[in-house]
Amino acid sequence: MEAVDRGQLELAQSMLSGAQRVVVLTGAGISTDSGIPDFRGPNGVWTKNPGAEKASNISYYLSDPDVRRAAWRARLDAAAWSASPNRGHLAILDLERSSRLHAVVTQNIDGLHQQAGTDPDLVIEVHGTIWFSRCWECGDRRQMSETLQRVRDGDPDPACELCGGIVKSDTISFGQSLIPEVIDRAMRVSEEADVLVAVGSTLSVYPVANCVPLAKSRGAQVVIVNAEPTEMDGIADVVLRGSIGDVLPQLFAQGGNT
Ligand code: NAD
Repeated sequence: MEAVDRGQLELAQSMLSGAQRVVVLTGAGISTDSGIPDFRGPNGVWTKNPGAEKASNISYYLSDPDVRRAAWRARLDAAAWSASPNRGHLAILDLERSSRLHAVVTQNIDGLHQQAGTDPDLVIEVHGTIWFSRCWECGDRRQMSETLQRVRDGDPDPACELCGGIVKSDTISFGQSLIPEVIDRAMRVSEEADVLVAVGSTLSVYPVANCVPLAKSRGAQVVIVNAEPTEMDGIADVVLRGSIGDVLPQLFAQGGNT
């Protein structure tokens, strides 16, 4: 991966050193160094296997038992169960310790921000979490480990134990509505930000990508950290093209200096 532009990095550092309310918007790219593949990066799940997109769509999941069985089988060995936070997640913790972190709005479902030690109250999981399962019919929510144990014990598509409904991970699939209070909070903190840093996302999934133009329209400076171009580069004040594990520690070090 190319080395980050020093001049642009220093510009972003100076924005951050003067900031009091920094919102960090994270996508799948922040977790690739932890061994969890993204969707659309060069080694992304969808880049390598475009058919995999179908399994992420709620209508296929609800209508096709084979899609559900395949999803549960794959989930048994998901990389996220054994993943640890990396330098990118830990850099956000440094920002929090300097009292500048207003919120982390994450598209990720892996729980690695909380595992890194970020205050769970500051983490807004707009696409849910894989650490719980939920019944589609009655909403019964359980630890994912409990539901996965039923799969391991031989039930390939475990139904809700309360109402018999279809159970899925407590994540937002494509085609599924977001939780209004959660996405509303993400938008609100974005409006309150004085700097918004978008990390490891193509910024192509809506409505969460709208946090970026919303923050900008309310006067925030926008910094984008990503290896590849994103849909929002055109409105960013600084685009840092490079490795997240390399760039974020430099960006979020105490006082914004290296
Ligand atoms: P995406 O897959 O669309 O884009 C990820 C971006 O990160 C790519 O542009 C890629 O080049 C960049 N990237 C990857 N590793 C990087 C690194 N080490 N340094 C710098 N850049 C790097 O991701 P998205 O925009 O978050 O959209 C994917 C959707 O799928 C999200 O809505 C999310 O909910 C879900 N998802 C989550 C996880 C997870 O929880 N870890 C993993 C895959 C997908």
